[in-house]
Amino acid sequence: MRQKGPLKQFEEFDAWSFSRLGESICSEDVKFDFPRLASDENILSSHVAYWEVSGRINAKSESVIRFKGRFTAELSCVVCGSGVQNVIDFDRHLILMTSETQADSYDEDTLDEDTDVVACPGAINLRDWLEDEILLACPMFPKHDACAELAGRSWREEGADMQDTDDYQDDTADGQTQEVQRPFANLGDLLKGGKK
Ligand SMILES: [Zn+2]
Repeated sequence: MRQKGPLKQFEEFDAWSFSRLGESICSEDVKFDFPRLASDENILSSHVAYWEVSGRINAKSESVIRFKGRFTAELSCVVCGSGVQNVIDFDRHLILMTSETQADSYDEDTLDEDTDVVACPGAINLRDWLEDEILLACPMFPKHDACAELAGRSWREEGADMQDTDDYQDDTADGQTQEVQRPFANLGDLLKGGKK
C-alpha cells in the first residue's frame, strides 16, 4: 500500500510539463497494473515485458509524448478461437494539442505512421493512457499462420468418416473484411475525462 502515494501522481499526469522538461519514466521506476488488458475477453493471457513513456519538444515546438514498450499476449484466433501467441512491440509518438478542434484540424498527412495527434486539454491518467496504447497495439484480427491446417488435422484425428474433404476448404475467411479502424474515439474520451 505504500506504493499508493507515488502512483497517485500519475492519475493526474501533466503531459505538457512532462514533455517540456524532457522527462521519462519506465516500468523499472513505476509498477502499473493493467486491469483492462487482464480482463479483455479476446486476450487470453498477457505480460507486459517493459514500457517507457518519454516527453520532448519537437522541431516544430510541439509537445510530444512517446509510448514505447513490448508485451506478449495470447490472443484468441479469429478463425478457430484458440490462442495465438504474439510478441508485440509498440512505439508511438503523440503530438499534444490543447483542444479537440485543434487536434482535428491538424494536417495529419505530414505525419508518419507511428505518429498521431491527440487533444490533451488538461491532466490525464497516465496508466489508463498507457493501457490504451497497449490495447491499440494488439492486432485487430489475430490469426494462426496455419490455422486451417491445424483445424483440419484435429478434425481428421477425431476419426470422422466423412470423406468429402472438399468441405474442408478455406471458406473460413468468408469475405468478412471488416473495416480496420483503431478506436481513437476512446482515447479522446479519456483525455477529455482528464479535464476538470
Ligand atoms: Zn486459429
